[in-house]
Amino acid sequence: MKPETVVIIGSGPAAWTAAIYAARANLDPLVFEGAGSRTMIPGGQLMFTTDVENYPGFPKGVSGIDMMLDFKKQAVRFDTRVVTEDIVEVDFSGRPFLLRSSGKQEVRAETVIVATGANARWLGVPGEERLAQSGGGVSACAVCDGALPAFRDQVLAVVGGGDSAMEEALYLTKFASEVLLIHRRDELRASQIMQERAFASDKIRFLWNSTVEEVLGDDAITGLRLRDTVSGEASEIEVGGMFVAIGHIPNTEFLRGQVDLKENGYVEMPTPWRTETNVPGVFAAGDVMDDYYRQAVSAAGTGCMAALDAERFLAHNGAGG
Ligand code: NAP
Repeated sequence: MKPETVVIIGSGPAAWTAAIYAARANLDPLVFEGAGSRTMIPGGQLMFTTDVENYPGFPKGVSGIDMMLDFKKQAVRFDTRVVTEDIVEVDFSGRPFLLRSSGKQEVRAETVIVATGANARWLGVPGEERLAQSGGGVSACAVCDGALPAFRDQVLAVVGGGDSAMEEALYLTKFASEVLLIHRRDELRASQIMQERAFASDKIRFLWNSTVEEVLGDDAITGLRLRDTVSGEASEIEVGGMFVAIGHIPNTEFLRGQVDLKENGYVEMPTPWRTETNVPGVFAAGDVMDDYYRQAVSAAGTGCMAALDAERFLAHNGAGG
């Protein structure tokens, strides 16, 4: 069977933008948008975001879900084909590449754009997932959600002790009446400079040696049940929001041994400002290769770049080259 020209794996802003560009360039893209699981549904992390207010072009904001459905509609309008399955295995040892899906399909592809994103690491405690999905004041991205009216002048909790937690806490001081930084140890993992900035803020209070055991609240978060990791004592605090900043996990398991990955699991990008991976003909876009910016708009930008890179690659190398 004739190989696909471009297979795009993923369904967030990077994947759909790549599809729109590839489709409009007559590359007839095939998107594997993912089968969905408890923690990831087609559409990616934006499906867990209530309002997106920082994506240009939406002066009144837009729900993350509506935005992803519209991205997809725009790709489909230009005849992008979509399969609601995961790619579970790849063989990038020669072109055309071989991909196997969760539905046992085998697909060959001249080029592949990997845009499988990353999942926020969650605490996994009662109340957390329910209130994150319902927009009830639990989030894994302060930059995405922190400026929402519901969080203004509230006591907000940030969980974590790394750079992300410091950054989120500092960002939230612009809106919150107080930021409680909850860390499971008495020492931060964050870089010295970020620690100093956080310590210098009179709006950030540190709750050391503390873990969150439960997120309280029915429709919206009202508080947290904490456990002191040293004394073992339980306590409850009132908060108007919780931001979990304990790291991300890139969705790259299926690429192991096929594409160079960084130590933290993200796709290694050998050339700055290009979307090529170490495998000619395989490109990466969005959060799967970006452990730094992680924004919808930057993901969409790299999706565009990946489609253009794939198009140029095909122009230079042809099919099966
Ligand atoms: P990270 O450095 O891995 O830190 C994760 C933090 O979450 C750690 O403090 C860890 O605690 C805590 N944690 C992990 N699992 C937990 C759990 N189940 N319950 C409670 N706490 C938990 O992750 P990150 O902060 O997202 O940073 C990732 C990378 O991006 C780092 O290399 C960082 O330097 C970089 N980054 C840089 C900047 C910047 O420079 N502006 C901003 C953001 C991120 P322990 O310390 O006890 O392990």
